[in-house]
Parts: sequence; C-alpha cells; structure tokens
Amino acid sequence: MKVERSEAIILHTWPARERDKMVVFLTPEHGKRKAWAYGARGIKSRFGAALEPLAKVRIGYVERESDEVLRIESVDLIRSLFPAQQNLVSSVAATYIAELVDTFAPADDPAELIYRLLDRTTEALLDGAPALAVIAYAEIWMLRLGGIFPSAKTCIECGGSLARPLRFDERLQGFICEHCAGRDAFVVSNEAADALDALFRQPVAEFVTRAAPAEVLLELRSLAGLVRRNFLGHELKSFDVLASILGTA
Ligand SMILES: [Zn+2]
Repeated sequence: MKVERSEAIILHTWPARERDKMVVFLTPEHGKRKAWAYGARGIKSRFGAALEPLAKVRIGYVERESDEVLRIESVDLIRSLFPAQQNLVSSVAATYIAELVDTFAPADDPAELIYRLLDRTTEALLDGAPALAVIAYAEIWMLRLGGIFPSAKTCIECGGSLARPLRFDERLQGFICEHCAGRDAFVVSNEAADALDALFRQPVAEFVTRAAPAEVLLELRSLAGLVRRNFLGHELKSFDVLASILGTA
C-alpha cells in the first residue's frame, strides 16, 4: 500500500481500545482526516509527543479503499504547542480554536486557507500574542472561510452598499442598511466595524499587534457567536471553559 505524506496539524485525539489512539488532523490538500494510530498509547510509542493537539507534523498514512479511517504510519514533529501550554489562557484558547476548526473544516476536501488560518493563529499563540485578539480573529475568519459570515459591505436585504454605522439584523443573520433595518437590527459600534475591516485585511500577526481594546474585541466575538450559534444550533463545547478563563485573565 502506498504511504501518503502530508504536512498536518493535529486537531483532536482520543484513546481507543487498549493501546491505540484515534486521531483527527487537518491537511492543506485533503482537509480533515481521521486515522488510527496503532500502539500510540504505549510507553515506548514511536509516535512520542507528536500526536498532541495542535502539534504541527509531517504525517505518513495509508488509506484502504474499504476503510474510511486511515492508518498512521509515521509522524514527525515540526512544531509543538508545548510552550503555549505552559500558559493557561493560551492553552485553553488553543483547545478552543482546535474545536472551532474541527467543527467547520470540510472532510476530504482541500482546505488550504483553513489550514493556513489554523497554522498562523497557533503560531501567534506560541509567540505570546494576546489570546482574546487571536480568538476573535480565528472565530470570524473560520466563519468566513466556511461561507457563513455575512458580507459587511452590502445590505443583506437590498444589496446596496453599507455605510456607518453598521447594523446587524439577527433575524436575517446579516448586515443591513439604514433603510431596510427593522426592529431586529442593532447598531455595531464604529470601533468594532473598523476592527472587522482590519481583521479581513490583515494577517493575524499584524492584527494582534495593533489589536483593538478588549471591549471592541468582545463586540466582534459576540457577533461571531450569533452567527456561529445560529448556524450550528448550539455552542462549542469548550466555549464556557474559555469564557471562564478569559474572565479571570
Ligand atoms: Zn438595504
């Protein structure tokens, strides 16, 4: 059987059977994949620490036609998340971002932009960037790359271009112009609208160094939360843990 090789970022692992692990990882070429790592729970496992969540690795796997789950042959660590895990806020932020990507990334389809988003936001956390800015960036971009975040340029109702202040209509789940806005619409602060523009224009490393104040980032996060919950019908599992950690940070 031919071994496929790819760069990948580990999203999630869980123990399976006595000595094995099930691993979900993201690749640029084939999106999200699921694989067995045989013997990964053994003390002398050849996989070592390379199967930790958000580790960036070079992975070799085989695919059998009869089996939807792959088998991991080799894993070489490119970048560990370990340094960021020493900080509680970064560590919980990383777990949350991994769940976010795990939830929205397509399986078995190219996902280069999502891969890059995950790679760069993880790197930002490792560089010690403020977690709140990295999370807001990841939340909104993930929804945008998933085709779920509405346009902030044109009105969802009439298609006309939007002026400030920006308004969001909860029922229509989109930004709406002054003329179309009904009572379900609320005004987004100009600071948050500016931060949203910056977020779409800038790479994460730049966005976090000029990050907006916390209250503006929280406003962006609550917008992302409305869109995400409306789409999923529920909240992400690690959302509350993250909220309680950020609340004390
Ligand atoms: Zn309109």
